[in-house]
Amino acid sequence: MTFKSTRNSFIIAVSVIGLLHTFFGISLGWLVLPSTVYLALIIYGSAIIQSNFHTHAYCHANISEKEIALSFDDGPNREYTPQVLSILAQHNAPATFFVIGKNIPGNESILKQIDTDGHSIGNHSHTHSFYVDFKSLQGFKNELNQTTESVFKVIGKRMKLFRPPYGVTTPNLAKASNSLNYSIIGWNIRSFDTTADTVQIITRRVQAQIKPGAIILFHDTSDKTIQVLKQTLNFAKENGYKIVSVERLLKIKAYE
Ligand SMILES: [Zn+2]
Repeated sequence: MTFKSTRNSFIIAVSVIGLLHTFFGISLGWLVLPSTVYLALIIYGSAIIQSNFHTHAYCHANISEKEIALSFDDGPNREYTPQVLSILAQHNAPATFFVIGKNIPGNESILKQIDTDGHSIGNHSHTHSFYVDFKSLQGFKNELNQTTESVFKVIGKRMKLFRPPYGVTTPNLAKASNSLNYSIIGWNIRSFDTTADTVQIITRRVQAQIKPGAIILFHDTSDKTIQVLKQTLNFAKENGYKIVSVERLLKIKAYE
């Protein structure tokens, strides 16, 4: 099920009801049925990145080897990103940091360290605005270009991985990222590490879902993430899981 097939089915359903109304006098009240289904599918498809509704998103790898990838959204963060980097270094584990462009000024040295430590950096929009999903096609292109250029100025590489803010996709977001050749990266394990849940609950939630090819979503913006990360890395080691970068897991390129 994609946005296009849903839209076409909706148009056909409305046309059929229109014809039945014209020739057989059925009530136009029947329009409520396809309209409700259409709206529900649009909301579901836009909110759930794993649905591939508007565009293809990589959310895991189909592999049997015990390899998983870690991702950190919403940095660079002066307080927490260096802590995450230090834990990753202790475990010799690579990760992908999906950065917000507006967080870069003043944090260039942290961004540089992410790169020199051997991690990859992906685009997570410039503003990460709550209203970002109402942006036009050009608005989304600007969000992507601004952050990619900001990162390029610091590390000299142009990003090709994009994680949509809030994991929400829209037709304009899909068109913008596809026309600029970004690979959209989702996840299949959401830690919910920025919620009110305790470290123990978050850790248990993550560990229960770990399986070959998984991509875990964390945020390098929270105290709890630091503790959860330590425990997750220990769990991975004890259970024979290797941490690899998102681009290696998915066999794609992180940069142009
Ligand atoms: Zn985010």
